[in-house]
Amino acid sequence: MINFNAGPAALPFEVKLKIQQDLLDYEKSGCSVLELPHRGTLIQELITKTSDLLQSLMNLPDHYQILWMQGGGRLQFHTLPLNFLTAAQKAGYIISGHWSKQAYLEALKLGDASIISSSEALNYQSLPSLDNLTKAMDHNSTQWAYLHYCSNNTIYGTQFNEFKSFENVPLVADMSSDILSRDIDYSQFDLIYAAAQKNLGIAGITMVAVKEEFLNQAANHLPDILSYKSYSRTNSTVNTPAVFAILTTFRMLEWLHRKGMDYVFQENLYKAQMIYQFLDRSLLFEAIADEGSRSFTTVCFRLKNRSLQQTEEVLTYLQKEELLFLAGHRTIGGFRAGMYNAISIAEVEHLVQTLDHYEKSYFLL
Ligand code: PMP
Repeated sequence: MINFNAGPAALPFEVKLKIQQDLLDYEKSGCSVLELPHRGTLIQELITKTSDLLQSLMNLPDHYQILWMQGGGRLQFHTLPLNFLTAAQKAGYIISGHWSKQAYLEALKLGDASIISSSEALNYQSLPSLDNLTKAMDHNSTQWAYLHYCSNNTIYGTQFNEFKSFENVPLVADMSSDILSRDIDYSQFDLIYAAAQKNLGIAGITMVAVKEEFLNQAANHLPDILSYKSYSRTNSTVNTPAVFAILTTFRMLEWLHRKGMDYVFQENLYKAQMIYQFLDRSLLFEAIADEGSRSFTTVCFRLKNRSLQQTEEVLTYLQKEELLFLAGHRTIGGFRAGMYNAISIAEVEHLVQTLDHYEKSYFLL
């Protein structure tokens, strides 16, 4: 079975095998990883080595810290403004889809948040224009706490390649659905967060990579459980951490390290080109996102005739070929392929060939 779900996403077979062993006996301790004390050496070392490996795979310099928090991507929508948006400041949001809109709405509950650009009126089929960013942010009297992007829009299949910023305004990104998927300079950001259940492992943890200079500006008198500084001080052990989710991320990162990030990036490029090339020449299917905005991680497509009944028929046809969870998000319909790192070139080839077979048999009827 091939799992194209947008998240929770496919895990590599080797990773599943390894965590199966860890469940019975972690690092020859004689105990399951689920039973070990979280303040003991083995688990504290696990957290440190997971952070170190991620920092090195992201090519982030030493003045960044990696934190492991809970509450998913959604809690970050609240935690970010809670830590960084003061009464004298505004937070800027680029609205490119449902998730960035949710992030903005959460910030509004806590302070002054402002929409810098939005593509809501285009049904998020394109990325919002960044042409007027300077004009939108250039008010002498405004102090900006940060500018927030969602790098990959999981529902609509659009993805930013460029992250325009405004001078001296900290840059923040929700990378929940494309972290570690492509060659990008992570050090242009002051803070990145990503829920783990797509490219980093399973639900239960959210990675935060934060520049120390920015972290120092975070509020001090917050509940510990919501304070970035508390996570930094305690090696992400403010309370009992989600150890199994951290372990899964560690095994995923080891797997990526063995493959080599450059190789992974090339594979992802190849996978995306293969499917978009098919969609662009198809007489039956079409990509949903506008060409300049297309995501290389999340490919959303539909039937040109938009028939709901035929969409169901195609999904059934795909399922018979063991191609699973390809229905588009319920708000836009059609199809969606989450092509995360664990999805191989051969699996995408199988998807493209099956769509092609369906199309050929349809036109022969
Ligand atoms: N951000 C993005 C880009 C997402 O795709 C999602 C969920 N798919 C979220 C945030 C919310 O994540 P969670 O369900 O972990 O709260």
